[in-house]
Amino acid sequence: MREGAPVAGVSDTGAHVGRDAPRLPRDAPPACRDATPVAEGRIRMVTIPLAAGVGVLAGPWLRGLVFAHAVGWRQPLRQHCPACGTSVIPMTWRGLLAVAPLDGRCPTCRTPIGPVAGSVEILAALVLSMLAMRAPSGWVLAAWIWWALLGIALALIDTAVHRLPDPLTTAATGGVGLVLTAEAITSGEVDPLIRALACAAGLALVYLVAILAPGGMGRGDGALAVSIGLLLGRISVPAVVLATVLTAGLAGAWTALGRIRGRLGGSDAVALGPHMIIGALVALLVNA
Ligand SMILES: [Zn+2]
Repeated sequence: MREGAPVAGVSDTGAHVGRDAPRLPRDAPPACRDATPVAEGRIRMVTIPLAAGVGVLAGPWLRGLVFAHAVGWRQPLRQHCPACGTSVIPMTWRGLLAVAPLDGRCPTCRTPIGPVAGSVEILAALVLSMLAMRAPSGWVLAAWIWWALLGIALALIDTAVHRLPDPLTTAATGGVGLVLTAEAITSGEVDPLIRALACAAGLALVYLVAILAPGGMGRGDGALAVSIGLLLGRISVPAVVLATVLTAGLAGAWTALGRIRGRLGGSDAVALGPHMIIGALVALLVNA
């Protein structure tokens, strides 16, 4: 379910007749009313390739984040080639801005640096174009894109070292919060923002209980959950519930499969981040 007046153009998809017709502002010109579904199609024809382009361009940044942050707890971020020691990742802002070589290799000794060049670019382009197909407004798409880009890096880092670094989860939450606040200010609709904040607080509480439980999950999972509560709470409460159920289901199935195949022992930790991120993205695409 979506709240508020749809944004002309990048608004509701599908039915535009009868009771399901998207409501336009009363002062919208008649031409705008008649052309909305067509205009929306045209705008999506622009936003989908644009989002895919953002994914491709963000690739070196995401590969840089993965290489720099895939280190153990309290270890310094990685900037140098592990083989020859050449500085390969220009980095600033607590490692939030880190860029991997375009070809994914050390310029001196050709050792691979981080994920294979092109792999993250393709993944990001696919995810972002799917989000552009479903986003109900430009503001929401901006929040989704920011979160999804960091989500891809976080999922890869968590898979590699079972950590969700604070600078990245904080940036995800801060970015989504800023965009949703800007949306509320410009549209004058505060209900979606209030619901997003309430869902973030609710999900934080649920994860806090799980973190404090004996042998519970990591603190990074809780930090990521706050950003997921904001992101999905902007859409609806059922979207938050679906994301949480999907996360539990995916993580449970992954753990069971690992044990059956003998890859996971009874006490082996499972990275929850990738399951949280996939669950949130699926819930977004289903509920938006
Ligand atoms: Zn090297």
